[in-house]
Amino acid sequence: MKIIVCVKQVPDTETRVKIRASGTGIEEEGVNWIVSPYDEFAVEEALRIKEAKGGEVVLVSLGPDRVQAALRNGLALGADSAVHLKDASFGATDTLGTARALAAAIKAVGSIDLVLTGQQGVGGDNGQVPALLAELLDLPQVTMAVKVEIQDGRATVEREIEGAREVWETSLPAVVSAQKGLNEPRYANLKGIMAAKKKPIDVKDAAALGLDGATLAPRTRVVAMELPPARPAVRMIEGDPEAQAKELLRLLHEEAKVI
Ligand SMILES: Cc1cc2nc3c(=O)[nH]c(=O)nc-3n(C[C@H](O)[C@H](O)[C@H](O)COP(=O)(O)OP(=O)(O)OC[C@H]3O[C@@H](n4cnc5c(N)ncnc54)[C@H](O)[C@@H]3O)c2cc1C
Repeated sequence: MKIIVCVKQVPDTETRVKIRASGTGIEEEGVNWIVSPYDEFAVEEALRIKEAKGGEVVLVSLGPDRVQAALRNGLALGADSAVHLKDASFGATDTLGTARALAAAIKAVGSIDLVLTGQQGVGGDNGQVPALLAELLDLPQVTMAVKVEIQDGRATVEREIEGAREVWETSLPAVVSAQKGLNEPRYANLKGIMAAKKKPIDVKDAAALGLDGATLAPRTRVVAMELPPARPAVRMIEGDPEAQAKELLRLLHEEAKVI
């Protein structure tokens, strides 16, 4: 089994996001970058399949130099090699350009059996890249997987839907996107971290992928971004329990107007 995992680096969910002066993106300074949590499920699933069936796990990430930390983390967990897609034009592209670059890199890997992604990149939350990849690679796709079983060149994938669970079967290769609950991701140990230092990260730019400016030119653009309004200060209600309850009712009725 040759398994590709698309790994995106995203701001730590604890980050206090600041909007850039342009109003169309976030300030990157001071941001702690992590692997998108859904991609951690995808990496873990790839490693479990490799352990059960044998094979190879190749990570692919598009982004600036900092994404190599995400790739090294996946290599420390047990992935075999990684491809870093780095080009000035990638930073200004949209989901279609991102998927085009990832698809070109996956095609360059050669014969593959499975592409695993997160169901969405936390932060951007577009949830578009997996479907775009399936289309660009002309592969079947199953989304939001909570269980994956590989047998006889086919995958059985379970998905959770509102109030029920669906079981799908697909031929391989296919694109499968990971949902929370798929597995419990492992942590890297010291041996893995040391081993990762010797594993290869192949860096490719747009030209190496055969992509030109027109292919990567964004067709969509973020025109505005704003933070939610600041929460009003907490108001403490004084007095004995009866007085507090009366005051709370009055505030909910007269000020908040919710009752
Ligand atoms: C400077 C800058 C400018 C940008 N301008 C635009 C713009 O004009 N218009 C626009 O639409 N977007 C823009 N983006 C967003 C950027 O293109 C996003 O990375 C891309 O749209 C994917 O968004 P997402 O995380 O929401 O993807 P999703 O579709 O939510 O991601 C789902 C899954 O796809 C895979 N994936 C997604 N991105 C990557 C990646 N980079 N590497 C590896 N795997 C990945 C992961 O497995 C992920 O879990 C910009 C970003 C930057 C940094």
